[in-house]
Amino acid sequence: MLRPMPPAIDHAAPTPALILDADLIRRYGHGGPRYTSYPTADRFVEAYTASTHAETLGRRAVRDANAPLSLYVHLPFCDAICFYCGCNKIITSDHGRSAKYLRYLGREAALTADKLSGTRRVEQLHLGGGTPTFLTADELTSLMRMLSSHFELAPGEYSVEIDPRTADAHKIATLARLGFNRISVGVQDLDPAVQKAVNRLQSEAETSAVIDAARANGMTSVNIDLIYGLPKQNVIGFNRTLDRIIAIKPDRIALYSYAHLPAVFKPQRCILSEDLPSAEAKLQIMMLAIRRLTDAGYIYIGMDHFALPHDSLAVAARKGLLHRNFQGYSTQPDCDLIALGISSISKVGPTYSQNVRTLDEYYDCLDRGELPTMRGIALTADDLLRRNVIQTLMCQFELSIDAIEESYMIKFTEHFAGEMAALAVLREHGMVEWDDHWITVTLRGRVMARAVAMVFDWHLQQDRDRTRFSQLI
Ligand code: SF4
Repeated sequence: MLRPMPPAIDHAAPTPALILDADLIRRYGHGGPRYTSYPTADRFVEAYTASTHAETLGRRAVRDANAPLSLYVHLPFCDAICFYCGCNKIITSDHGRSAKYLRYLGREAALTADKLSGTRRVEQLHLGGGTPTFLTADELTSLMRMLSSHFELAPGEYSVEIDPRTADAHKIATLARLGFNRISVGVQDLDPAVQKAVNRLQSEAETSAVIDAARANGMTSVNIDLIYGLPKQNVIGFNRTLDRIIAIKPDRIALYSYAHLPAVFKPQRCILSEDLPSAEAKLQIMMLAIRRLTDAGYIYIGMDHFALPHDSLAVAARKGLLHRNFQGYSTQPDCDLIALGISSISKVGPTYSQNVRTLDEYYDCLDRGELPTMRGIALTADDLLRRNVIQTLMCQFELSIDAIEESYMIKFTEHFAGEMAALAVLREHGMVEWDDHWITVTLRGRVMARAVAMVFDWHLQQDRDRTRFSQLI
């Protein structure tokens, strides 16, 4: 059967400009999952144990013995606390602690590789944290040596999060020599008043130095993270930050919203609520940033991500080949993700599993020779269907109803009758449109694509109030 072509998107053409509608963003831009996984992690259950995860690893080859892997390593240590932080991190200056952690990471890698069936070829690796560059150049080298003794580290995308306050040209050169070709640099804001209010003093020179070193060492992609909604931020100050960031010309920019949840994240209690921009000011900062970045030639990828047209993320977006994983958007085809270290989340086949959160629990599990699994989930057939729908809407902004009907043997409008009724409200506001064959997130709806995705989140519909999520504005 010939499938009708999508109505609007020409993948050879540049991505069309976003339409920013302040009223719509006010209405739909509030909380929502980021859908780096579906179901979201708050739905994971403790009944999914270490032995369930071990069984899953053992059955992996049944699906595709040659499918490459993605690897994530969580390195939780940081020298100093940033008051806005919501990550699982450990503040210390004691490198004895990271040395011990690296030894246990080795045990987890060995245990995981031992249980894993199928190829151990890794084509995507990401070091996240915490602060991966808390580790010395020697520690980073021994980490990579350890990983390569358990996995086949093949050419691919090797990325690492960089805190310029703990990295210099020598450390960046070491990372390049170890095979890293992408860096993601935490900046947040260059305004000294904002930096003081969040306890993260980081000069523009420190930031530029690591980026210059990455480029000099042949790294192919530089990302900068920015945050809007931080204390002491305003439109004028953030505009100045944007001037300087645009001049640095990173290949990618992630523009995150700060969610002030001091009851959940203790460090945020050090932030004075009177220093926070109002919801209206925050919206103005966000709209300013999106306008400035797109005027400067950045392509809006989706959610919080922007990329220059030459960058692989922008190319993948144009070709309709984007995916989502725990780092956000990815150019890599959907593959199994093995995650090592505290609190990290693996995705293997139709399952997710998350590691324990504390060092004591982590060491304890590994001392017993057990995988440090805390919880997880095996997806139902309905979860798999909805994951496909949500990821497609968030990555491609268009969904083929025919393809879903063929793949899952459902009548879309009957299976999703309630969802289509909810979607009709979003259509009234110009965020989505559909015909018999395609559902399309419009240019007006793209900044709030997760509001469209939420319509298809069965778990969220069951209990909308149970969770707290980051906010767009
Ligand atoms: S924001 Fe990054 S560097 Fe700062 S405390 Fe959190 S994990 Fe550490």
